[in-house]
Amino acid sequence: MVTKIVKATGDPALDRDVMEEASGIIRAGGIIAIPTETVYGLAGDALNPESAKKIYKAKGRPSDNPLIVHIAKLDDLERIAYGIPQDAYDLAGRFWPGPLTMVLKKKDIVPMETTGGLRTVAVRFPVNAIAREFISASGGYIAAPSANLSGRPSCTTAQHCIEDLDGRVDMIIDGGEVGIGLESTIVDMTVNPPCILRQGYINREMLNETLYSVEDEREKELSEDDHPKAPGMKYRHYAPKGKLFLVKGERSKVAERINKLLRIHEEEGCNTAVIASHEDRDLYRCEGPVIDIGSLEDEDTIAHRLFSVLRDLDECGAEYIYSECFDTPRLGKAIMDRLTRASGNSVINAE
Ligand code: AMP
Ligand code: MG
Repeated sequence: MVTKIVKATGDPALDRDVMEEASGIIRAGGIIAIPTETVYGLAGDALNPESAKKIYKAKGRPSDNPLIVHIAKLDDLERIAYGIPQDAYDLAGRFWPGPLTMVLKKKDIVPMETTGGLRTVAVRFPVNAIAREFISASGGYIAAPSANLSGRPSCTTAQHCIEDLDGRVDMIIDGGEVGIGLESTIVDMTVNPPCILRQGYINREMLNETLYSVEDEREKELSEDDHPKAPGMKYRHYAPKGKLFLVKGERSKVAERINKLLRIHEEEGCNTAVIASHEDRDLYRCEGPVIDIGSLEDEDTIAHRLFSVLRDLDECGAEYIYSECFDTPRLGKAIMDRLTRASGNSVINAE
């Protein structure tokens, strides 16, 4: 398949031709990588089971890992979900359009292929202007998981989408770099109290300003045969090609420990790299790159750079990568969720 790469601006007058072509592709059952404010998405018609199958195939994603359905106006919600609780309308009023996904009971119009066999549907109303134009032009219901190959870091630029999906999708719409760089927060609204299934830009404190009570799936005691409620959370994700380890503890001890480990790998002739905060990057003695992910005072930048840093590490051929932990106040949980999964849960305590 030849992948057409086009640019869009977010200005409807300038994007008219692109949107006309893109919506024709979607209505014919094709798939397109599109920018959103969180990460790039791989879009298809959410109401067409064949489109969902194509998305799974292009990403190499297991078909039990459901897709998020994107809408471009609140009125469209009731056509795909029922039994919507007041809390969901309250959250929509506060955070939509924006980086919040809500899991609701699904109506039959949404095929099981889109929801990975679940009777619930995850819905988001993005704020990105290109995404909104595109969804409206394409019939209003767009299934769009992250536009990376399954297991790889999510895409924050069109270039990342080209790396992963060139030849596998009909079109890539280049809308420049995304704003946030972390996927949406997912909240299950089918349970009482609502429950956070995936941490994101909208954190628990922000949700609590609207909701009386909200739980966090990761803080619940899981019994042995329990499975994660967001099926995607069980898969290894975001992994760079080299082996990533996270080192936690007091900052000077973390650097000391990482330096020791680097020396061992380097004596064995292996390529190494470090992911460090701007403040601590000079503490490392590494033959490979020490990547400055941003200042601890600027957590938005750390979140924004995370996935592209993980991809850059592949470019430089790092075999062993050590990262500091970034437990920043607002986005720390979401950032550490992605990093922990990228490391396959390899966390070293430096104390
Ligand atoms: P991604 O598309 O890569 O952002 O991943 C979508 C995430 O949403 C995955 O972790 C899915 O498991 C989760 N998800 C999608 N639909 C549902 C649903 N109906 N119930 C629970 N989680 C869902
Ligand atoms: Mg993903």
